Amino acid sequence: MQCPFCQAQDTKVIDSRLAGEGDQVRRRRECVVCLERFTTYETVELSLPRLVKRDGSCVQFLEEKLRAGILRALEKRPVRTEQVDAAVNRVIYRLRAAGEREIETQVLGEWVMTELKALDEVAYVRFASVYRRFQDVNEFREEIARLRNTRFEIEDNAKTK
Ligand SMILES: [Zn+2]
Repeated sequence: MQCPFCQAQDTKVIDSRLAGEGDQVRRRRECVVCLERFTTYETVELSLPRLVKRDGSCVQFLEEKLRAGILRALEKRPVRTEQVDAAVNRVIYRLRAAGEREIETQVLGEWVMTELKALDEVAYVRFASVYRRFQDVNEFREEIARLRNTRFEIEDNAKTK
């Protein structure tokens, strides 16, 4: 922590205690150069990063929008509300854990796709077709074929049992 009096880079903590409602740490610091003392308050960065769109514009992250996007992809699909909630929470956890101030919407889109892939393949393809913007029709077909193969393998396994 830089000294606000002489801008020296080195300051030492001489006292540390919880402040606020226990969600803050108050630190008394002393500059090793000019010996002035000052206080800092540290809080955990709880605000979620803003989203940077493809065109460079920034928007605030909104949980409702994330949920709406996931629900749109899951329309008429057999997925329970608790599963949607869990997926939304995992995405928010990742956003928070990233600890960044800004995150590209594509990154968020990839995380949502990971969740949808695990929940429902139709929803995943619906969402991916919008977000990933498959390069061409063949790429899109390949992805669907790949998903179908996976499902047939599962069904075959079920039959042999
Ligand atoms: Zn100083």
